[in-house]
Amino acid sequence: MNSGRPKTLRLMSLALSVLLGLSVAAGAASRGADGKYEKRTSSHFVLHQDVAIDKTSGLRGSRRFEQELLKVLEKAYDRMDARLGLRPRRPIVVVVHDAAIYDRRFGSSFRFPSAGFYGGEVHVRGDVFVHMELVRTLHHELVHAAFHAELPSLVLPAWFNEGLAEWFGARGMGRHSLTRGQAHHLSTVARDGGLYPLNELSAASFGGLEPGAAQLAYIESHAFFEYLGRRYSERKIRDVCRELVRSHDLERAFQKTFKTKLATLESGFYADIMANVRP
Ligand SMILES: [Zn+2]
Repeated sequence: MNSGRPKTLRLMSLALSVLLGLSVAAGAASRGADGKYEKRTSSHFVLHQDVAIDKTSGLRGSRRFEQELLKVLEKAYDRMDARLGLRPRRPIVVVVHDAAIYDRRFGSSFRFPSAGFYGGEVHVRGDVFVHMELVRTLHHELVHAAFHAELPSLVLPAWFNEGLAEWFGARGMGRHSLTRGQAHHLSTVARDGGLYPLNELSAASFGGLEPGAAQLAYIESHAFFEYLGRRYSERKIRDVCRELVRSHDLERAFQKTFKTKLATLESGFYADIMANVRP
């Protein structure tokens, strides 16, 4: 079944990926992407895809691609339950766009190149095969979808929303820590006294930031969760999400989970970064 979605763009959160090293080839093939979206469903997802694949059957056909996407999504759903304690009941709509069409439609919506965003539905800049960056982006956007499903009226600060999504995306790729490039960037900025306090990253989205600021905002927010997982435990990250869904109160969720104030955790985080800064 085809559909012409999406008609409007209502941004809730987006994934910054190109700046962080993603290089999905755009327009490598032009056939197949016609603005008509194939629909396929699984237990927890409704998938629409329109990437430039000109065959439907076979190993490199669009059907196999859709099956692989749904497999990745269902696995991510189970991981989200295990790592974040989030298990949205309603099916999550995921739209995988052809890269060139995505750029044309949404490229001017953000101040920096994006690999995906959540606006009531997950939208990702697709490719003709499932690669690790696409897996990462899907994991990232699912976190936004899950929080929107669990806490539809709560506006979360971007450091939480994006930091957790980045952390979960990296874990979805099997990474436990920042990349060397990210760690180096963080450390260099820290040495120059340029890190943001979390309250400066508390807008609903990083979408309005200029590219350099957005890059730092995503890395720093991700690093905070990486720090919490390493210094305390990854289970605490799940506990804080569960507590947040229960109480609708972020400060309280951190206090209850970590037995200390968010501000104290933040101080520990900056001290940890500074301990690794070379003069
Ligand atoms: Zn995001």
